[in-house]
Amino acid sequence: MKKHSSVLSKNYGALIPLKIALVYAVVAGLWVLLSDEALNLLIKDPATITRLSIIKGWLFTVVTAILLYLLVYRYMSALQRKDDKLFEIVQGVSAATGEAFFQSLVRKLSELLNADYVLVGNLTGEGMTKVKTIAVFGKGSPRENIEYDLAGTPCADVVSGEGKMCFHPSGAAAQFPQDHLLVGMGVESYMGTPLRDVDGHVMGIMAILNCRPFESRDEAEAMFRIFAVRAAAELERKHRVDDLKAAEARYRLLFESNPHPMWVYDLESLAFLAVNDAAVIHYGYSREEFFAMTIKDIRPVEDIPRLLDSISRVSPGFGQSGYWLHRKKDGMVIDVEITSHTLSFDGKAAKLVLANDVTERLRAETALLTQFSQISTIFDSLNAIVYVADMEDYRLLYMNKYAASIFGSDWQDKFCYEVLQEGRTKPCDFCTNDRLVQDGEPLPPCIWELQNARSGRWYQCTDKAIRWVNGQLVRMEIAVDITEHKDMERLKDEMVSAVSHEMRTPLTAILGFTEFMLEHKLPRQEQETYLGTMQREAMRLNDLIGNFLDLQRLSARNHSFAFMPLEIGAVLKEAVDLFQSTSQKHRLITDCPADLPKVRGDSRQLYHAITNLISNAIKYSPNGGTVTIAARLKGGMVVVSVSDEGIGIPAEELERIFEKFYRVDNTDRRTIGGTGLGLSLVREIVHTHQGKVWVESEPGKGSSFFIALPVAEKEL
Ligand code: ADP
Repeated sequence: MKKHSSVLSKNYGALIPLKIALVYAVVAGLWVLLSDEALNLLIKDPATITRLSIIKGWLFTVVTAILLYLLVYRYMSALQRKDDKLFEIVQGVSAATGEAFFQSLVRKLSELLNADYVLVGNLTGEGMTKVKTIAVFGKGSPRENIEYDLAGTPCADVVSGEGKMCFHPSGAAAQFPQDHLLVGMGVESYMGTPLRDVDGHVMGIMAILNCRPFESRDEAEAMFRIFAVRAAAELERKHRVDDLKAAEARYRLLFESNPHPMWVYDLESLAFLAVNDAAVIHYGYSREEFFAMTIKDIRPVEDIPRLLDSISRVSPGFGQSGYWLHRKKDGMVIDVEITSHTLSFDGKAAKLVLANDVTERLRAETALLTQFSQISTIFDSLNAIVYVADMEDYRLLYMNKYAASIFGSDWQDKFCYEVLQEGRTKPCDFCTNDRLVQDGEPLPPCIWELQNARSGRWYQCTDKAIRWVNGQLVRMEIAVDITEHKDMERLKDEMVSAVSHEMRTPLTAILGFTEFMLEHKLPRQEQETYLGTMQREAMRLNDLIGNFLDLQRLSARNHSFAFMPLEIGAVLKEAVDLFQSTSQKHRLITDCPADLPKVRGDSRQLYHAITNLISNAIKYSPNGGTVTIAARLKGGMVVVSVSDEGIGIPAEELERIFEKFYRVDNTDRRTIGGTGLGLSLVREIVHTHQGKVWVESEPGKGSSFFIALPVAEKEL
C-alpha cells in the first residue's frame, strides 16, 4: 500500500535535520581546522594569532547565529503556511450547510489548489446518466449551474470506476474530444472523485479542472479527499432533506387536494390545528373560524358525550373509523363516516381525521332497505322458493320464508349450491349465471325446469340478474313447485298408453264376435253364448273406462266429495247385493254389527271402493269359495274387511299392488283380466276420507283387504 503523505507536505522525518547536523559538523570542523592552520601559516606572532582567533571565534558564532536564524525563520514560515492552509480547509469544509456550503467549498478549493474550475454535482436523469451541478467556481468567480451528459466525459470514469479518484495530470481535453465543454474551456488537467452515500452508492461528483498541467499532485489530492468526504456527507444530508421536503409536499398536497374534508385537531384542547379546502367548502366555516373552534363545535350537543368517550379511549397511532353526526355552519346535521389516526403534530398529540359525508348514501340505503323489506314481505307470502345469490362468490344474500322452510333457516353466509343442492362443494354445472348478464347488463329472465336433489321435487325456475342494494348484479331465482303438474303429465301419459292397451283386448273380442255373427247365420243358443261374451267384454270395457275416469278425477283433485255421517252397513249391503247373483261358485257373507258408529264419508265413493274389493275377491278366487264382507270398530275407526279364499298374493307384491297399473304377473292370473287401476282407485278414495287401506294375504289360501275409516264427529 502506498504510504500517504501528511495533509500538506511530505514527512521527511529525522533525515533532513541529520543531514543539516552532519553538514554543520563537517563545515564547522573544517572551519576550525583550516582557519587555525591558515592563521599559523600566515601569522607568526602568537599575540596576533590569539587576537585573530578570538575574532574568528566571534565571526563563527555570528555566522552560525545568522544561519540558525534563517533556518528557524524558514521552518516557522512553513509551519505558519501549513496552519493557514489548515485553517482555510477547515473553513472550507465547515462553513455553512446546503447551497452556501457548496458555494464556499468550490471557492475554497479553487483558492487553495489554485484551480481554474471546481464543480460539485448531483447524478440525475434516468439511469443516472447526467450530472447537474450544485455549485461551480471558475476563474475567480461563482458560475451558473449546468447540466451535462456523463457519456464521453472524464466524469463518466469517475462514476463508473471503483470509487477511485480520477486523475489526468495533462492533455485532458485531448483525451476526451467528445466533451465539448472540456474542449471549449481549454482544460489541460482534471481531477475528479465520486461522492458516495453511507451505503457506498455514487450520488454525485466533485471535480477540479485546470487550463495547465497539474504540478503538485499529492498535496492537491490530499486536500481534495478531505473536501470530498465533507461534500459527500453534505450531499447526502441535502438528499435526505430534499426527500423529506418532497414527502412533506406530497402529504400536504394529499391533505389539501383531498376531495373529502380533512383536519387535524389537538387531542388535549380539541382545537383545530389544520383543515383542508374540502372541509372549508363542505362545512361552510372559513379557516379562521375553524381555528377559533374545537372539534366539539361541529358536533350536535347530544353527540358530545360519545365524542369525549371515544377520545378518552384513543390509542396512539391507531387508525379508527366510525359513524358520527356533524353539524355544518348552516345548522344542517349530516351523517359522516370518519377515518382517523392519532399522530404528533407540531409536537402535540393530535388526531388526523378524514370525514366522508354519507348522508345521501345512508338515505338511499334506508329507502332501498324499506323497499326491499316491502318486497321481501311479498316474497315471504309466496308459495314459491325465492332466493338471491351473489354471482361472483355464490353466497346467498336472501331467501324467503318458503325457501327457508325447505332448505333450513341457517342459510346466511352459505353458498347457494351448498344450501339448495345435496352434497355439492362447487357451483352447479347447470348454473344460469352465464346466461343472465351480457356486457355488464342484465339479460331477459331465463326460465327452466329442474328436479331438486334435496327435496326431490320439480321446480319451474325463473332466473334473473337484478341490481342488489350495493349496486352489484346478483342472481334472483323464483322457483315454483311443479311436481304435481309433472306427476299429472306423467300419469296421463302412463294412463293413455296403459288404457289403450287394456281396451284393445275387449274391443278385439267384441269386434271379432260381431264380425263372426254378421257373416254367419247362427242358431239362437250359439248367438246367446256369443252375445253373452260380447256383453261381458263390453262391461269390462265400461269398468275400465269408469275406473280410469274416476282415478283421473281423483288424481286431479277436481272431484267434489259429499262427506256426511253414514252407516257403513248400508253401503256394504248395497255392494254385496250387486254381486250376490253374479257367481254360483262364490258365497258372499256380510258381518256387520248394527250398533256401529257412523263414518264420515261419501257413500258413492265408498260404494265404489268396496265393490272394487268384492269384485277382486271374486275374480282372484277362480275356484270359488266364501267372500266375507265385515265391519268392526277398532281404535276409534270403523274397519271394513273383504276376505276371500282365493289365490292370494305373494308377500313381495303386497306393497306394490296399490300402485297404478300394477298387476301381479304369474301364470295363474294371466287369464284373469284387469287394468291394475282398481286398487289404486280404492287407495285414492280411502285417502280422501283420511282413512287407511292395507292387505293381508297368504298365497293359495286367500287375501283380506282392510279399509279403516274415521268415525263421523257427531258420533264421538
Ligand atoms: P286388476 O284390474 O288387475 O284387478 P287391481 O288394482 O284391482 O287391478 O289389482 C291389482 C293386482 O292385485 C291384481 O292384478 C291382482 O294380481 C292383485 N289382487 C287384487 N285383489 C286381489 C285378491 N283379492 N286376491 C289376489 N290378488 C289380488
